[in-house]
Amino acid sequence: MEKSQPEHLKSAGLKSTLPRLKILDLFTSGQDRHKSAEDVYKQLLASGDDVGLATVYRVLTQFEHAGLLVRHYFEGGKSVFELNEGKHHDHIVCLQCGHVEEFYDTTIESRQKKVAAELGFAVHDHSLHIYADCTKTKCPHKPKGA
Ligand SMILES: [Zn+2]
Ligand SMILES: [Zn+2]
Repeated sequence: MEKSQPEHLKSAGLKSTLPRLKILDLFTSGQDRHKSAEDVYKQLLASGDDVGLATVYRVLTQFEHAGLLVRHYFEGGKSVFELNEGKHHDHIVCLQCGHVEEFYDTTIESRQKKVAAELGFAVHDHSLHIYADCTKTKCPHKPKGA
């Protein structure tokens, strides 16, 4: 059975406060799985919730420490959060607008293991971030004239 949001918080050792519930809700019900602190802040503002950016940062960090969210550090100092669902995937990030897509490619996965094995390593984990420009999806922050 699916856990309710307060149950999720409780099992992570966190009390249910309004900002925590709202932020968790954005991650479980939103379409974009990857959000920066600014994305979260803007989405809360857009839905009329008065939660300050400092609170957003604090809650996201608490969620990260509690294992509810995973944080990915991308080039350029940008970091995004996503629900910790324990499934490995890699990321492709638009350098213009920060749009993130995730992917899982069995060939890439097995090639990496093979390369590591040839060098005498057994892989525990890896993270692959591809930096690119949006082409198919609309990139709203593309600089003019680009
Ligand atoms: Zn992801
Ligand atoms: Zn883009």
